[in-house]
Amino acid sequence: MKYTITCPKCSTQYLQESKYLEDKEQLICPNCNKRLSVDTLNKLKNIDKVIKENSKNLDDALKVNIEGTIKGSSVFF
Ligand SMILES: [Zn+2]
Repeated sequence: MKYTITCPKCSTQYLQESKYLEDKEQLICPNCNKRLSVDTLNKLKNIDKVIKENSKNLDDALKVNIEGTIKGSSVFF
């Protein structure tokens, strides 16, 4: 999966492959170097984990494309 992350500071959008998320210690905006909090990063990792876990029971022939926006409501920096 690919996350398109919109920087909360400068609104620049950058792509993050979820499979590389696990190795990341931090996410940094390529434009303004705004760092996302560790808490936010961990939550993104958890979302990916939950999707992976729940995909195990799906029929192998099934392909699902997930699209949508994850919106934080209480994220202040
Ligand atoms: Zn930024």
